[in-house]
Amino acid sequence: MLTHSYTDLPERFYQRTNPERFPAPELVLFNADLAEELGLVFSNEAEIAQVLSGQTLLPGSEPIAQAYAGSQFGHFVPQLGDGRAHLLGEIKDLDLQLKGSGRTKFSRGGDGRSPIGPAIREFLVSEAMHALGIPTSRSLSVVATGEMVYRQDGPEPGAILTRLCESHLRVGTFQYFHHRDDLQALELLCDYTIKRHYPEIACSELPDRCLELLRAFAKRQGDLVAQWYGVGFIHGVMNTDNCSMAGITIDYGPCAFLDDFKFMKVFSSIDQQGRYAYGNQMAIAEWNIYCFADCLLPLIADDQKLSATKVKEALADISSSFASLIHQTFARKLGLAESDSSSETLITDFLRYLETHSLDFTLGFSNLRNLYEGDKGFYTENSDLESFLARWKDQAPDFSQMDQVNPKVIPRNHQIERVIDHANNGDCEPVAEMWEALKSPYTVSTNHQHFIDPPDLDEQVYQTFCGT
Ligand code: AMP
Ligand code: MG
Repeated sequence: MLTHSYTDLPERFYQRTNPERFPAPELVLFNADLAEELGLVFSNEAEIAQVLSGQTLLPGSEPIAQAYAGSQFGHFVPQLGDGRAHLLGEIKDLDLQLKGSGRTKFSRGGDGRSPIGPAIREFLVSEAMHALGIPTSRSLSVVATGEMVYRQDGPEPGAILTRLCESHLRVGTFQYFHHRDDLQALELLCDYTIKRHYPEIACSELPDRCLELLRAFAKRQGDLVAQWYGVGFIHGVMNTDNCSMAGITIDYGPCAFLDDFKFMKVFSSIDQQGRYAYGNQMAIAEWNIYCFADCLLPLIADDQKLSATKVKEALADISSSFASLIHQTFARKLGLAESDSSSETLITDFLRYLETHSLDFTLGFSNLRNLYEGDKGFYTENSDLESFLARWKDQAPDFSQMDQVNPKVIPRNHQIERVIDHANNGDCEPVAEMWEALKSPYTVSTNHQHFIDPPDLDEQVYQTFCGT
């Protein structure tokens, strides 16, 4: 039985709308463990396909498309909203949402659909992030719709992804009402967000609640993005409409993981300026937080100058605290004491060494134990390596700490593309195998060893596409 809290908010927050009809839904991927955790019971695959494509509604479903705005590549767009997603309701306090389930009033020029490739991609990457211990939306299923969708490269099979989220509230949800000068809605949204995601905030005065929310939100964003750095994750479209108020990773589009280390690496075909490059992500998180702060200004004080001063105070140390979060991430990856700022040079030197020699980011860290024990096989031997090694050994690195944060298996771009190619040709066995390997990123079973390997030269992926 689904429950609802979002529909208690006024009707201008969403549109009530049902998923479209699809000719022949067929189950492609199903996360049975997650279904069990949620207490969802189905009698057979056909039923799963019907329900998780929105053809049969679960008891209590009240499908809606949510309204939101967003700053896309720095430019404000006043109306975005769920143009191809339907929120069916909540289960165990999580949003159950279909993506690719048809048009809504927010679809603008879009067809409301998703090709199977991006649906599989989001399924694999979000589940990999979860296994890596990084806050994220979860994926329950991919169901092929039985119809084709038309994109740049011609027709592709259509699919619907079902995902679960602490909520789908975004910075863009606040921007939507801020842009419309709808203070009543902003206040309701603030209280809804606090109740759902930040129950620890108990200030009775609205301005204090807002400032507390701003600080708590900023902390979650910083913690999240620092974790992205740690696994070499590049979100690819950190627009404010993809920035979750709950502080989790959402809206996987042209996201990618680093193979060889390059600090300003960009994969996304639409990110021409490198705005969302790997090494820019923390600065962008900060930019997004200021967009959120902007929306709170009218709630903090009538005098906008006073509001701005209070926001400034609340975020005074954001840049330095975010820089230290990144430092802590890499200190942990090298097994060093987090609080020791003397490790900074060691970290910078090691990253520069990886980048100079185009060494694989993931393997560069997961092979450190071998390096320590004298096996330099993976590394390019030179004086930089020797200098790093000597200084690093002096610090007596903590290997048990390193083993928890240096994964061996990540969803590598070339492997994702390979399994999607197979799926497009009707063979989902490789996707299932890759998903299995991604479930335990820190310990690899012998039959999954090949998922550790970086791409050969002819397998390298240079660009990723949002595929919408
Ligand atoms: P995304 O890049 O998936 O975060 O989407 C950005 C905005 O475009 C959101 O408002 C989506 O709902 C909308 N959108 C993306 N693809 C489609 C589509 N095929 N049909 C309708 N709306 C879409
Ligand atoms: Mg989005």
